[in-house]
Amino acid sequence: MSFEPSVITIDGPAASGKSSVARLVAQRRGAIYVNTGNMYRAMTWAVLQTGIDPHNAEAVRLAAEGITLQSPVVDGQTQVAVNGHTLSQDDLNSDPVNRGVSLVARVPEVRARLVADQRALADLGPLVMEGRDIGSVVFPDSPLKFYIDASEEVRSARRRAQGHTDQVAERDRLDSTRKTSPLVVPDGAIVIDNSHLTLEGAVQAVLDALPASPLT
Ligand code: C5P
Repeated sequence: MSFEPSVITIDGPAASGKSSVARLVAQRRGAIYVNTGNMYRAMTWAVLQTGIDPHNAEAVRLAAEGITLQSPVVDGQTQVAVNGHTLSQDDLNSDPVNRGVSLVARVPEVRARLVADQRALADLGPLVMEGRDIGSVVFPDSPLKFYIDASEEVRSARRRAQGHTDQVAERDRLDSTRKTSPLVVPDGAIVIDNSHLTLEGAVQAVLDALPASPLT
């Protein structure tokens, strides 16, 4: 008998609040929370360690071939480790990583690798996975898809409040216009505008749209 665990997919632009929502939805539904942005950030951190310029797609492709990511689960969520070394939030959110991540994420071979890793995580059990292409590319057959949006003004303010100085508009431009798996509203996704919702309000909007039974 085949066992196919459910995956709730949550996509959306930078700083729309989707990570906080996804983490809480996962906790309340007993699922593992997967932040795929951190996987692209970890790959970027490792590429930058090699000293190459992330604008050089061919050099990124070659460097990525020698980098192995792991996703150990700690306290119900995946962490990211590069060649066995677990990265901290400071590593993942450093200014160079903020500036480079959308450049690394547009390289098709990098995406192919990470998409395969993300699909393999479904073996762990029910997941809440968030990112940019989860409902459109990674798990397009999931019946449980969400797209969390917020105005650019609100998103920039959110990043500043988190102490980050990156330009979310520039990351969104790169993420929405790249050739491979651009940011889109996935077919069948429920769109939630999180510009003026509280965190609890946004979590409730997702939970209300889910079937009542626990994920299997
Ligand atoms: O979610 P977060 O803002 O941390 O993602 C960082 C970057 O990783 C995004 O701006 C995007 O370039 C890339 N990303 C992606 N596909 C995903 C998740 C993130 O391309 N599924």
